[in-house]
This record gives sequence, structure tokens and C-alpha cells, in this order.
Amino acid sequence: MREPVLVRSGETRVFVRELDRAYPLIERGDGVWLYDTGGTAYLDAVSGGAMVTSLGHGHNEAIAAAAEQAAKVSFIYNQQFTSPAQEALARELTALSPPGMDRVHFTSGGAEANETALRLARAYHVERGEPQRRRIISPAQAYHGPTMATLALAGRAGLRAPFDPFVVDQLHIPPATWRFDPSGAEALAALDRVLEEAGPDSVAAFFAEPVSAAALPGYSPPDAFWHGLDERRREHGFLVCLDEVVTGMGRTGTWFAAEQLPIEPDIITTAKGLGAGYAAVGAMLCHQRVYDAVAAGSRAFEHGHTWDGAPLPCAVGLSVIDQLKRDGLVDRVRERGPILRDALAAALADVELVREVRGRGFLLGVDYVDPRDGESFLPLDLAVASRIDMEALDRRLLVYSTQPTADGFTGDQTLVAPAFVASDEELDEIVERLAATVAAVERWVKGQLAGRPAATGATA
Ligand code: PLP
Repeated sequence: MREPVLVRSGETRVFVRELDRAYPLIERGDGVWLYDTGGTAYLDAVSGGAMVTSLGHGHNEAIAAAAEQAAKVSFIYNQQFTSPAQEALARELTALSPPGMDRVHFTSGGAEANETALRLARAYHVERGEPQRRRIISPAQAYHGPTMATLALAGRAGLRAPFDPFVVDQLHIPPATWRFDPSGAEALAALDRVLEEAGPDSVAAFFAEPVSAAALPGYSPPDAFWHGLDERRREHGFLVCLDEVVTGMGRTGTWFAAEQLPIEPDIITTAKGLGAGYAAVGAMLCHQRVYDAVAAGSRAFEHGHTWDGAPLPCAVGLSVIDQLKRDGLVDRVRERGPILRDALAAALADVELVREVRGRGFLLGVDYVDPRDGESFLPLDLAVASRIDMEALDRRLLVYSTQPTADGFTGDQTLVAPAFVASDEELDEIVERLAATVAAVERWVKGQLAGRPAATGATA
């Protein structure tokens, strides 16, 4: 195996994210493969590292679409202008989204789309004469972005603490996972408690990922939870916002994961797979009834970042959708996803470190536990998630693992989210390399745990 070319914080002017990490110096990609400057090949099982490049790396026709659009007009500001590219992408996206989601505001990314959703949820109630509705409820174990407003949507003290008091206190409920609440009944009871404490008419929206990505890879609350949420929405008048920044554009086997849930959202956000890595583009879609509140009220929704709806990213979004449709890639994800999940579960069946392999389409998660009792969180000091990522990189496999944030909701987990264009052989290779990685880490974990006091239950 070739030696990888790595860049460390002492050797670069880049203000890197983790100063003790060595970064592979990637110069090109091809499908699910990434190559460093020395020719070392990495198998990318997580779409560029962040669930983005669903069409794979390199040689994509979105590049020609971008060049063609840039040659005509690359940028105009959507406060003063619109363009055929923005208009066409708005038509395409609303046609692909669940019924009634008829208006769209484009952004450059996921957090911006979520911030836009928050502002619209608030504007909706203000327009309708309920300005006291300010609070947002969301499952605690979530990730909706790194901005101050979106950090507040995650109830993960470990993530938010460094930024207090910029991060406002929002309301949270525990996740309905196998560990706490497989039926969803506890989560609904927590929702009732939170509504009661806050006062139901102070709540503007419920915000959640339909299938979680980084925070709880591949997890989705049980249907009973969504039904119960719907009942409470009808009773109390808050909006339901689904963060489909990762799940939108086919990642779970339908254009939007909302199609698979027994609830109709009021607002949906999406981003990553919309530009598929060829442009930074996101979107906030809303139901016509939400738009109507503004249309019948102030007739202005003044929210915008400079690049929102610019022709260049919109042209790329259009090309991405064309390719997803033409090549039947969403159908492929729907059909191939369960086979991939089963293969991964089978390959990890004898690994005591693994409690669960879950997920939909090409958005899968592996949940790790203390192998001594099969349910407790692993000790934090072992940093198993980062060891998995490092061990995988040694095997030239790119996955994304989540460190527990000591909040008591989840432990170490790994996210697998390959490009939709991955061949059957490449998917098999991902399973093989990940299984070898996890088996190696399990051996290490068992060695570390020998001689330590027994696990004491399901706490982080
Ligand atoms: N929402 C979810 C579910 C995400 O996974 C992410 C990013 O990983 C975001 C929002 C934030 O998106 P962005 O990084 O494009 O701002």
C-alpha cells in the first residue's frame, strides 16, 4: 500500500478544524474514489465526508451546466432579480416535493436553509396575529447546523456549551431509540410535558430530521411518534419543520424522506445533495398555507444571504436533478439500500461492539455499545468513534463517526452514506473494509476494557 500524503496543522496556513489531525491531501476524485497527490486511493463511503456528493466525484455534467450558466450570467441578487435558472429549479423542486410544498427560497447551504425556516415559522405566527409564538421544540439528539440559531435546535450540551450565551434555550425531548423508548410513547409524553411547561400557544414549531444523519446516524422515530406529533400540531397550532438537508434529493430512496412518514410537514429544508458537491445550494420549501399567511399579511419575507437563488448554483441544482431522474438514481437507492444495510448487518453480526445497524436508503448507521453487556455506552475516554475513523482511513476507507457528547442520549456511532452511483462491487468493498475496521477496533476495545470495572448501565 502507498504511503498517504498528509498535511498537519504545523505545515499549513489553513486554520484547520482539528489541530491534532493529519489531513489527506486530496487532488482529484472519480466516482466513489478519492486520490491524494501521491496517488493513494480512498474509498469514499460518505459522499465526500459530509453526505454531499451523491453523484460521485469528478467528470460530472453539472460542471458544463455551471460553465454554460456562468458564461451567460453567474450572479444576480434575488432581492432585485430572478432568472430562468432560479425559476426552473423552483418548478422542479416543488414538483418533486410532497403535495402542497409549493414555494421555495434558495440558500447556499443547510444551516442557512434551517435559519430561513425558523424565521418563516416565526413570521407565519406573527402574520396571523400570534406574535407570542417564539419557542421551538426538537429532539435533543440532533444536528441542524453550526450557526447560533441552529445550534440551539440541538439539545447537546457538549456542542452548545462553548457558545453560551449566544445560543438561546430551546425546548427538547429525548430520542425514541432502542435504548430509551422503542415505541415512541416516552417521546410523546415528553412532548406533552414540554408543551405544558412552555404553554402550547408559545410554541412556533417542532423541528426534526426525518432520518437523522450525523447525530444519530440512520435513526428515525417510530410511526407512532409522528402520528402523535400530528395530533398535537392539530390541537396546538405549531408548525412541523423537517430538516432534509441530508435526506432530501433521494438519499433515503424517495425524493424527500417526508414521503415515507405518516405526517405532512409545513416546512422542509434541503441542501447537500441538491448541489451534490458541484455548487453550494440549499432550499427551504414551505406549504402553500404557510406562504398564504405572508401573502395575506405583510407581503414581505425579508430574509436573504447574498448568494440565495443566484443563477450559477441554481443551474447546477437543475443539472443534478436531471441526472438523478435520467439515471433512475433515486430508485436505485430505494432498491439497493436495504441490501446494503442487510449486508452490513450480516458482516457485523458477530461483533459484540455493534448493537444495531439501521437506516433507510443510502443513509445507514452503526451503533456501538460496551461489548461486556451489549447495551451500555462505551467509556468516553476510549474515543471509539474517532478510532473507527482513523482505523478506517488506515484501510483507505472514508466513513464518518459521531463522538458522544456526554449528554446521555447516544454513544459512539458510524455513518455510512455512499454516492448513489456506487457500483454493487464498490458497495461490497465498503462493507468488507468497514467490517474489518470494526473488528480491529473491537479487539482493541476489549483489550482496553480488560481489568476495568464492569459497565454500569446505559449512561454516557
Ligand atoms: N442539517 C443537517 C441534518 C446536517 O447534517 C447539516 C450538516 O451536516 C446541516 C443541517 C447544516 O448544513 P450546512 O453545513 O450546509 O450548513
